[in-house]
Amino acid sequence: MLFRSVLASAVAVAALLSTPAVAQDAEALKAQVGAYVQPSNAERMNVLVAQLRAAGFNPTVETFEGGGRAGPMQGSNVVVTLGPDTGAGAKEILLTAHYDAVKLRDGTMSQGVIDNAGSVVALIGAAKILRDKPLTHRVRVIFFDQEELGLIGARKWIEAHGVANVAAVVNSDVAAYGDTMMYGQNNGAQSAFVTRAAQELCAERAMQCVGFPVYPPSDDRAFSAAGAPVVSLGFQDEIGAHQMWLAFNGGETNGLAEGFVPQVFRVIHSKDDVIEAVEGATIATAGATYAALIQKLDAQLR
Ligand SMILES: [Zn+2]
Repeated sequence: MLFRSVLASAVAVAALLSTPAVAQDAEALKAQVGAYVQPSNAERMNVLVAQLRAAGFNPTVETFEGGGRAGPMQGSNVVVTLGPDTGAGAKEILLTAHYDAVKLRDGTMSQGVIDNAGSVVALIGAAKILRDKPLTHRVRVIFFDQEELGLIGARKWIEAHGVANVAAVVNSDVAAYGDTMMYGQNNGAQSAFVTRAAQELCAERAMQCVGFPVYPPSDDRAFSAAGAPVVSLGFQDEIGAHQMWLAFNGGETNGLAEGFVPQVFRVIHSKDDVIEAVEGATIATAGATYAALIQKLDAQLR
């Protein structure tokens, strides 16, 4: 009883001292994610550029002819460059996430906040952290368009720039709620050191992380197909992460009920990918974690 009441008052004092500011930050991040709920991807891009400018960045918009099966459609990748100007041919690190949302079967746009405005706002947070750090590599934070049409923005970026200078890529897709970080382990042997850096970070931060031998595809696949080292990251709740692990890696004896679909796959690409499901604290954690991973890779790479 005593222990519990002491604990309770300690928690109450801690809450008084620290929670309001943190809660405000989380609410602000959630609102920032909510701004991407727009009727078109062009309008999502305008929101992204405006948020980057408001954060003091000077983003570059790289347009490309894309569109995929739906027919020709111009797309726009948005790029923020950080770190020293190391000159042509120097190794670079990329931090990437797609900002486009999927068009639903009824023709309307998904809100696209879990997939993938949460990652977009996390990357802006990471960029804000990284610009004050002494980086030795150039870091490009790239917001891809047309991922949902077949990784087209990423493929077009690779077509335009190549991957000869790309030392490592950190991609984020589906990072909007929960405290468990997922990372894919299926991007080829050249990606092993990036995966290991993620694992080291999880240990150092005592973070709950789940490695996926089979992880669903995102823009990371465009980079691994080109031979670049890449890891794909995401966040969700711990139970959901393990259910997803079983669904993708457990085979026929995964123990999941017949027809069970992990919650995250019932939500994304549907009317249920809504801002109410987003947790600002996750966006903050993801941004800080991604910034730390880029710093770790920056220090490890020659
Ligand atoms: Zn996505």
